[in-house]
Parts: sequence; structure tokens; C-alpha cells
Amino acid sequence: MTRDRLDEGDDGDVADALARRLRALRAQRGWSLQRAAQATGVSKAMLGQIERGESSPTVATLWRIAGGFGVAISDFLLDAPAEPPRVVRAPRQRPARDAMLMAPLFAFDPRLGFELIEVTLLPGYTRESEPHAAGVVEHVVVTRGSLQLRVDGDWLELAEGDAVRFDGDREHGYRNAASQPCSFLNLICYPER
Ligand code: MN
Repeated sequence: MTRDRLDEGDDGDVADALARRLRALRAQRGWSLQRAAQATGVSKAMLGQIERGESSPTVATLWRIAGGFGVAISDFLLDAPAEPPRVVRAPRQRPARDAMLMAPLFAFDPRLGFELIEVTLLPGYTRESEPHAAGVVEHVVVTRGSLQLRVDGDWLELAEGDAVRFDGDREHGYRNAASQPCSFLNLICYPER
């Protein structure tokens, strides 16, 4: 696979994986759909559709679900790679019907307290992120193209190789205003729960 080819994965597999993870999480907690809807702010109807593999939620919805269950976003991505020293070649998957691809390089591990995801934004894509759980700290390192990153009111212009750390529990946004895809590494650190 060449560096420029975007492997978008298989939407069906992603929907099935989401469905399984959500059902498993809800079973673990012993939560009804109603209880899960209260915890996540996502409607019972939508949660039911996701659990049946009938709907692939937006990334924003996925974040709300992860936050409500108190788990990392990588819990909802396919086949996070095994522990080192294996070489990681995670698929870039599209967890939602939008122009954002995510590759879980290192899934959340409670001993380590972080997850590392490669995110690719297709040209013109903007994503407003709701604040994550209190104490979450994000790191962004641009590996390809250019990225505009908003933290609170300010848009920062990042070029390839630039790195930023910011509080993920505040409002923030990501935008690719260029005509080429933009990729960045997103290291998300979760405080001890
Ligand atoms: Mn974020």
C-alpha cells in the first residue's frame, strides 16, 4: 500500500464491531437502553440502531457514548493491535459517515492511561469536538499536510511536524482547509479513574 492511498476499511465490519462493543459494554454494566441513553445523552432509538448494526454513528456521537460509559474512543475501533514488539499496521477506518478516518495504533490500556490514534481528515473537513471527560489531555502531531486546530476561541495553524498539547476537556475543533488529506497523531491521556 502506498503512503498516499487512503484505506477506508469496510463500513460493514466497522458497524458490526461497534454493535458488538456497545452490546458488550451495556451488558457489563447491566444497563438498560434507557440507562445508557441517560448516561451518554444519545437517544435510546439511536443506541438500539447502533447495537443492531443498522447505523454508523457520527464521531461526535461516538465520543458521547465513550464518555457516558467512561471508556476510551479506541474501545470502539476495530482490532487494536497487540502489545509490542509487534509492528503496527492498523487499518484507517471510517467510524462514521463523515470524512474522518481513524487508525487505532495503540488502544487504551489502563496501566498506561493513554491511547494513540492516527487521524486523517479529508480536504475541507471540519470537526467540532465536545469537551472530553475532565482532566483529559490531548497531543496532536501533524504527520502529513496541514491542520487547523481550535482550542477555545483560537485557531492554530499547524504544518507537517508541528506538535501541540492542549486540555481536551475544553471545547476544541479540527479543520483541514487544504486540498490534500491531512494526517495527525492524536495522543489522548486519561487521568486515573
Ligand atoms: Mn478531541
